Amino acid sequence: MRRIYFIVMSILLLAPIVSAQETAKKQTDHPSGVDKGLENISKQSIEAALSFLASDALEGREAGKNGGLVAAEYIKSVLKEQGIKPFYDSYFQVFEAYSPVREKGVEFQVDPDSIAKYKSERAFRKLNLQNVVGYIEGQKKEEYIVIGAHYDHVGIDELLVGDQIYNGADDNASSVAAVLQVAKAVVTSGEKPLRTIIFAFWDGEEVNYLGSEYFVANFKSLQAIKAYINLDMVGREGGVLPIFHPKFRVPENARQPLRKENKWTHILYSEKLEKVKGLLLEDIEKYRLNITPKLNVIPPKSHGSDNLSFSLRDIPEVWFFTGLHPDYHTPWDEVETINFDNLTNITKATYLVLWDLANE
Ligand SMILES: [Zn+2]
Repeated sequence: MRRIYFIVMSILLLAPIVSAQETAKKQTDHPSGVDKGLENISKQSIEAALSFLASDALEGREAGKNGGLVAAEYIKSVLKEQGIKPFYDSYFQVFEAYSPVREKGVEFQVDPDSIAKYKSERAFRKLNLQNVVGYIEGQKKEEYIVIGAHYDHVGIDELLVGDQIYNGADDNASSVAAVLQVAKAVVTSGEKPLRTIIFAFWDGEEVNYLGSEYFVANFKSLQAIKAYINLDMVGREGGVLPIFHPKFRVPENARQPLRKENKWTHILYSEKLEKVKGLLLEDIEKYRLNITPKLNVIPPKSHGSDNLSFSLRDIPEVWFFTGLHPDYHTPWDEVETINFDNLTNITKATYLVLWDLANE
């Protein structure tokens, strides 16, 4: 009896431990199709998309200019080809931004009050812009994970002697190419996520985070967005973090050459998404991704990228970022400087985190 009693007791005692391990293990146990999607992520496709977006032909993709329009058309055509549906009636979420005359040095805005105020002045400036937005419906249609990257950059400076085009290979063609691949991989998985996934390509980030601000300010139910995954500058490695508060600033050491031995990728996350840390580290180990994550909590309402538009509404965020470097916002941010192996691994890690958050 005692022996039987002992066996029963040990089973009862052990059961919760086993189930806790089972559940923990299950955290990163993705639906079977996810592996198929992961394998579909290709360095060649990322390289092709990035090289086109950062080519001289797109003239630095300035918001409201021809190069920006071509980039938007390109992104739309890739989403369509991948079978990603438009989130709105069209793939384009068209909007306008206004500012007073240049001399006043006031940033462009998209909120109705500022627009009304500027339009009442003798002269004002106007920008026509469009986000490109697609989605994959989840089992819970009305719960969302948004993943986004801005596609605009700073264009051309005709007064520059020599190379005048700001190609923006790292900022931010790298992330657009990555998010397009993630979208394709989700389709390839053949799995229906629990939550609806919105793929968003922002316009006007370089001007004043305009595209993401317009999207969030006009979104039907903000509380239904459970998290935002931001990619901005994921084409290099071992870069420097900016100063996030009170405004975005480039620290002095960001102008020093990157050191070869520094291989890290910054992965910044909101305190509320602490669990992402464990999930990501498990995914990296399980899928043997050759990536050096530098995980840090990002303070709320941090400037720097489109994460701000979501953070201002307390929507938790994850931001993939390989850091600032001497080519940042110069004509030397070219395709040749991109680390495509690291970028492909970041794309895979992003895809896995997206599944974790979309299925959690
Ligand atoms: Zn950027």
